[in-house]
Amino acid sequence: MVELIDQLGRRIDYLRISITDRCNLRCQYCMPETGVDNLTHQQLLSYEELIKVVRVAARLGIKKIRLTGGDPLVRRGIVDFVRMLKEIQGIEEVSLTTNGILLQEKGADLVEAGLDRVNISLDTLQRDKFREITRIGEFEQVWRGIEEALWLELAPIKINTVLMKGINDDEIFDFIDLTRKYPLHVRFIEFMPMGGQKLEQEEKYLSIEELKKKIKEKEQLLPSQFATGNGPAYYYQVAEGLGSVGFISPISNHFCSSCNRIRLTATGWLRPCLCSDDEINLKELIRNNSSEDKLEERFLEAIGHKPDQHQLGQEDNLVKHMSQIGG
Ligand code: SAM
Ligand code: SF4
Repeated sequence: MVELIDQLGRRIDYLRISITDRCNLRCQYCMPETGVDNLTHQQLLSYEELIKVVRVAARLGIKKIRLTGGDPLVRRGIVDFVRMLKEIQGIEEVSLTTNGILLQEKGADLVEAGLDRVNISLDTLQRDKFREITRIGEFEQVWRGIEEALWLELAPIKINTVLMKGINDDEIFDFIDLTRKYPLHVRFIEFMPMGGQKLEQEEKYLSIEELKKKIKEKEQLLPSQFATGNGPAYYYQVAEGLGSVGFISPISNHFCSSCNRIRLTATGWLRPCLCSDDEINLKELIRNNSSEDKLEERFLEAIGHKPDQHQLGQEDNLVKHMSQIGG
């Protein structure tokens, strides 16, 4: 079995691919109200080009692929792309992260094409607040997407909830209740200061530690009995919960020492760390029709650029918005 181990001994087996910077929402913490300048078709890597990258990645030891964006479901042809990814030798799992708006429409076809799992982002269970946070979204559409995922048994279904003080911290227990009623795994994620936002000025920031204190005043958190994967979240559950409650603390307690991933942006740059704008150009090689060996070399170079830990929240902050990287 091929393994990709970096200089710090971290096993890198997970590639997150942003397939578009476009999105059908405008979440306040992710992109400016006016959106970002949409990339042209020519600037994006084509599906054929992406398949070439994934073949090389699989040869090196990448086993899991996650599609993201922008919203991955807005890019045409995603169903066939998932099918092609599943045929690549060495790729064991293909999943995606979506806002859920188009999941009701596309879920069944994606499952038929071989999609293994889905993470759905949802920061509030209240219709008006959903519109406020996403600027243009309809809560019901996402909820229908979640119901579709449940019906399709795309388990484990994870719900990503970005914690925002004064915005959704009054709904913590409503989200926990979701895990009582449905086999959903709700993950609270610390707000990250991307795209020129400043953490210290952000009254929105609430640490996972503070959140857990609040939760413990009312709920007992037990060790989780569910198999939810070995990503950055750590999981608990409430008694008789059908799903779990997870915590992701990229700022207050980063998980860089066990980071297992690398990212590919929609424009074909490898990004060794989510929280650093250091990127390595892969598109240049692909468009020059370089050999797979050359691509492999560039890939390994990018792995070599993975920092031992990120500086987000301490240093001047990143220029790119999350929607341009894929989260
Ligand atoms: N559109 C898809 C979605 O919303 O799930 C995929 C792309 S989105 C950039 C990926 C994840 O990043 C989402 O779960 C979103 O909530 C999260 N995210 C975006 N901006 C963030 C920020 N500033 N801090 C923490 N998480 C953020
Ligand atoms: Fe779009 Fe996802 Fe960013 Fe919201 S978080 S604007 S859904 S890319």
